[in-house]
Amino acid sequence: MLTQIYPQTSHPYAFELNKDMQVSAAHFIPREDAGACSRVHGHTYTINITIAGDHLNESGFLANFSTIKKLIHGEYDHTLLNDHKEFSGESREQIPSTEAVAKAIYDKVEAYLEGLENRPHCVQVFVRETPTSYVVYRPKQGDHHG
Ligand SMILES: [Zn+2]
Repeated sequence: MLTQIYPQTSHPYAFELNKDMQVSAAHFIPREDAGACSRVHGHTYTINITIAGDHLNESGFLANFSTIKKLIHGEYDHTLLNDHKEFSGESREQIPSTEAVAKAIYDKVEAYLEGLENRPHCVQVFVRETPTSYVVYRPKQGDHHG
């Protein structure tokens, strides 16, 4: 396995949790100028999700590692990303590029965290698509609600 060195993000929170996972999935880029990427092909995505917060829940966690994995791996692993509703529209945000995959993961994780009483935040999503390329998504200031 590739040794990962993740970029760090600064945030004001006391605790930070990182969850790694790998997701095998197929996709295609439905654009003529995407070349070979316009044909269906697969990747083993390496994903790192960073969650931060000041408060722990009753179990002493910021968030449950296995729930975070289930949320992302459980939904995307061994699927065609283009089949998911967030990647099946016509707009550029709905093309399953590495960038859009990172944003979609952020949206899912943050939506889940919004329901937790200790209210942690997702502060970074790292998605490596190939050994030589990766994307980092970080919410902009003010994207957090509450
Ligand atoms: Zn691809």
